[in-house]
Amino acid sequence: MTQPSGPELEQVRRVVTEIPGPRSLELAQRRKESVSAALGAAVPVYADRAGGGVVVDVDGNSLIDLGSGIAVTNVGNSAPLVVEAIAAQAHLLTHTCFMVAGYEPYIQVCEELNALTPGDYDKRSALFNSGAEAVENAIKIARSYTGRNAVVAVEHAYHGRTNMTMALTAKNMPYKHRFGPFAPEVYRVPTSYPVRDGLTGIEAAQRTIARIETEVASENLAALIIEPIQGEGGFIVPAEGFLPAIQKWCNDHDVVFIADEIQTGFCRTGDWFACNHEEVIPDLITTAKGIAGGMPLAGVTGRAAIMDSVHAGGLGGTYGGNPVACAAAVGAIKTMREQDLAQRARHIGSVMHSRLQELAKDVDVIADIRGRGAMMAVEFADPESLNPRADLPKRIAATCAQQGVIVLTAGTFGNVIRLLPPLVISDALLEDAMDVLTDAIRVEASR
Ligand SMILES: *Cc1c(COP(=O)(O)O)cnc(C)c1O
Repeated sequence: MTQPSGPELEQVRRVVTEIPGPRSLELAQRRKESVSAALGAAVPVYADRAGGGVVVDVDGNSLIDLGSGIAVTNVGNSAPLVVEAIAAQAHLLTHTCFMVAGYEPYIQVCEELNALTPGDYDKRSALFNSGAEAVENAIKIARSYTGRNAVVAVEHAYHGRTNMTMALTAKNMPYKHRFGPFAPEVYRVPTSYPVRDGLTGIEAAQRTIARIETEVASENLAALIIEPIQGEGGFIVPAEGFLPAIQKWCNDHDVVFIADEIQTGFCRTGDWFACNHEEVIPDLITTAKGIAGGMPLAGVTGRAAIMDSVHAGGLGGTYGGNPVACAAAVGAIKTMREQDLAQRARHIGSVMHSRLQELAKDVDVIADIRGRGAMMAVEFADPESLNPRADLPKRIAATCAQQGVIVLTAGTFGNVIRLLPPLVISDALLEDAMDVLTDAIRVEASR
């Protein structure tokens, strides 16, 4: 028999070499000589296999995964139903191009998306390769439907790295720096950031709407796009009432309300989608990341009248909705249903939240602990001024990696640690990882 893989991997944290170990160092050298230096890396190790809650590196170190490859492997790496579906589909056909000759897995994924996404109106979906491509297409669809040009995005937003999505993304470094000019007719307005603006959801929504009305006007506005919980921006959860008020204003003014659930979707926040929490019903929703257990796939789902308004042949792409990726998505969604991963996300969230809350009692640079379900973050700031402490997350993440725990950073100000464990992580691993993380925070915060 071959070595164990996927969830069969031993679920332990085990550091057997320095991190990075000798084989990772070798690969780092080859990378330096072959891969563009423009690509970042959160941890200095190279992965060999992964599953459940661990990533095993090429030196045999077993690291606890609190990142899920940025909220992608919600069902775990190499999840059995995903692996089986990929293998079976790969034997049948690997590509025809959906616009040349269709195939069932594409339709199955669209049926699932139409059924699972918020809103019980008549829906249609279209599939793409990446989150950014889904966002680009959602904007194309909204412009075509409304006959308007302007698009509104909010502060701290992240929607991708292509030209249109860079325009929608807020943060300059590293996403936009020197990459302009950006797509025109994108307007940025304030959002709700409770710990920093102190506004209620309704007050924040009034501020946002007033800005749109004076600087854009609904008659010119095709769409407003927003992440129901901001991802790269630092897991900012808007104050209660903000999203419903924005959605209502969009509905009242025939502005397409696009929820970007690329990071929040597929059970991550303790429900299928984060919009469900306040019963927000988007007109269009973009999905990617968690959809297919690690395979590249993305979707735009929404009202049939909007989705079908685009001229025939107006949407597509060579690879979008690749059959192997679609089969993987069907396997991943089945796994989420069978294992009730939404409930699991709520449990993981409550463990992480209580551990962090406990820690915050004696670490005064913890300005906020926020998130929902298995999407939880810590914001670091000076306790008096709330000046961001951007030095801390990098050091904390490096300390955690040394001890065999992968954690990611985030935030417009770079002062956030974000936790996105696979939803299949065991309680024992999660507690162990939280021990390492809370110790690292304690040590770094007191230096
Ligand atoms: C990651 C992300 C994107 C971009 O997805 P890619 O697959 O990296 O293109 C867009 N929106 C949100 C909210 C994301 O988290």
